[in-house]
Amino acid sequence: MPIRPLILTCAGVVDGTGSPAIRDAAIRIEGERVVAVGPVATLRPHPDEHATVVDHPGLWICPGLIDEHTHLGLAGDGRAYEEMAEDSDEMMVLAGVMNLGKHLRSGVTTLRDNGARNQIGFTLRDGAKRGYFPSPRMLVCGRPITCTGGHFWWCNEEADGEAEIRKAVRRLVHEGADHIKIMASGGGTRGTIPGRASYTESEMHAAIHEAHLFGRLTVAHCRAKESMVHAVNAGLDLMEHAEFLDPDGVMRFDPEIAAMMRECGVYISPTLQAAGYPTVVALRAKRGSEGLTKAEEQRLKAAEERVETRVGHFRQMLDLGLLHRMVAGSDAGCGNLEFGHLDYDFHLMHRGGMSAMQILESATRITAEAIGFAADVGTLEPGKLADLIVVDGDPSSDVTALSRVRAVYQTGQRVV
Ligand SMILES: [Zn+2]
Repeated sequence: MPIRPLILTCAGVVDGTGSPAIRDAAIRIEGERVVAVGPVATLRPHPDEHATVVDHPGLWICPGLIDEHTHLGLAGDGRAYEEMAEDSDEMMVLAGVMNLGKHLRSGVTTLRDNGARNQIGFTLRDGAKRGYFPSPRMLVCGRPITCTGGHFWWCNEEADGEAEIRKAVRRLVHEGADHIKIMASGGGTRGTIPGRASYTESEMHAAIHEAHLFGRLTVAHCRAKESMVHAVNAGLDLMEHAEFLDPDGVMRFDPEIAAMMRECGVYISPTLQAAGYPTVVALRAKRGSEGLTKAEEQRLKAAEERVETRVGHFRQMLDLGLLHRMVAGSDAGCGNLEFGHLDYDFHLMHRGGMSAMQILESATRITAEAIGFAADVGTLEPGKLADLIVVDGDPSSDVTALSRVRAVYQTGQRVV
């Protein structure tokens, strides 16, 4: 049986490679993969092929978005980690199914889970593969490796010293980890210190070296400046947060560390919305409708200041040549970071100086490269999986277009 081609037509295609937008464009898909992208006039089907043609008049098509950093077991409903950790594993799996649906509807077709408890991450990935529920394609780390009592210790992968860390990597690989996540500094978990490294440089090296022996990429939670230096010296692949936190809990940008990051070629997921952006959005909306109490005004001001500091540091990293290393990651699930809002990061990256086109490339091709998935996803080119989204507006010139997702296709099938 010859494959019946699918041809999508639209107002324009931005393919994620960095090439300019193609207006009045079409995409030809055969089976799961893209066969051709070009102007409509060049891709008219032959009458004998019985092609299916779907028009999306006035709308634009770009590759599906990729979120490099999520926590699927957490609901992003504003509870502290300690409260969320009281949920059973079964409840966390249900939260994961809800989260995956929200992300898929918002245009995320690929994501990475960077840490859940016990078997939750593996179960969700394998359930999605069986087709039990709609989901972006998924890479999971299983559990994050952390020191005793460290950030996310309740996920149950505590390891101290090089020998235990190597063993933890081997255990996770054996259980099915696609990549290895390391908690290199404290974080929002009670009793941990965000401005202090949790692992020495040699412990970081043990984790990264062992992961690489098994062909697994590494990602580390690095809020502390000290942890950023350890991670870079140990050869980390992708750094989360990069907050430049000092032990006293104050963020102070350091151009020498940024230069080290550029020299070693590490990818960076700045997770800008995690500075409190959902709080800013919610309180600004409330101020506009019913007004704010004095306490809320103070909370808004504090959140705005934190966001501005992080956006300022992000801009300085771009100025120091890190533009093409920036990847999209929401940290969704934690605190009040709800799934379905990777676009919050795009708003802040734009504020920090990236153009709409640069943000689109970051959230598609560059993130695909950073997670080792570029052979299949990240651009709309012949041979790639037909994972794409239909948006209202030209995403190469208007970053808000990515907040108006009208349809989602996975492997050539419309799923939203
Ligand atoms: Zn995280």
